Amino acid sequence: MLRIALPNKGRLSQDARELFTDAGLEIRAAGPRALTASLGGEFQALFVRAQDIPEFVADGAADAGVTGFDLIQESGRTLHELADLQFGRCRLAVAAKDDSGVRTLDDITSGMRVATVFPRITRQFFAARDTAIEVVPVSGAAEIAPHIGIADIIVDLVSTGSTLHVNGLREVATVLESTSRLIANPAARADAARIRALDELVAALGSVLAARGKRYVMANVPRARLDEVRQVVPGLNGPTVIDIMNGGEHVAVHSVVSASTIYRTIADLKALGAVGILVTRIERLMP
Ligand code: AMP
Repeated sequence: MLRIALPNKGRLSQDARELFTDAGLEIRAAGPRALTASLGGEFQALFVRAQDIPEFVADGAADAGVTGFDLIQESGRTLHELADLQFGRCRLAVAAKDDSGVRTLDDITSGMRVATVFPRITRQFFAARDTAIEVVPVSGAAEIAPHIGIADIIVDLVSTGSTLHVNGLREVATVLESTSRLIANPAARADAARIRALDELVAALGSVLAARGKRYVMANVPRARLDEVRQVVPGLNGPTVIDIMNGGEHVAVHSVVSASTIYRTIADLKALGAVGILVTRIERLMP
């Protein structure tokens, strides 16, 4: 049995559940507050705080886990990163009050107090710049600290920037960029059965992530324009071309295309005389 620590609440929890479910590892919990659940097969989920996951995985309480890169770095523990799961994108940023004189990192001088939930990363960041700041550790709501006089600046997570904005703070610099990661205990990599199970897990999750950025396009195109169609929908190994019964001058073309450029693809296919265009989502993609 492989235990996988998943965030029990917060920003990462819903996305992690969706990713595992889409990969075919459906979470079968006894109830909404259950702390463990079967994921089917050889996997069991443990629901814990995202902050605790690096420790649990490093200590071997879980074989693998999903948590933010920010929290992994803050833990300072040695962990194997198996995959970037791409959700929970944010940055750890230095921010100061709008009306303070701090506009760049050069305005931050030794002796300034920095409120943060990330004391370790913050110390390392300013130590590398030879600025002897004083860390004021907080367990949340760092944004308030400069307004109540307990800190001069903050180091906090930013996603859209709206929390900083409504709290009269300005982003000064990025400390690190973060996304959620699948991590494993280094010892789990020493056992052949676990390596196989983890490799299968990485492949399953990766196939869902790869599919999310793609669409499957089907269209009937004039046979005479196949060369040009191939330029528009190159596909994984060239498009699939299928004869249509009573298709006359038309053949069916099927191809995997990038979701981000689907608008252009369809317009280009239409310009080449394509008809009967269908676009569908892909659940899993293993090139
Ligand atoms: P935003 O207003 O969108 O910039 O979000 C900032 C607030 O959300 C701050 O309180 C952050 O601590 C929190 N936050 C943003 N992104 C994340 C994330 N990926 N993980 C955890 N907390 C986050």
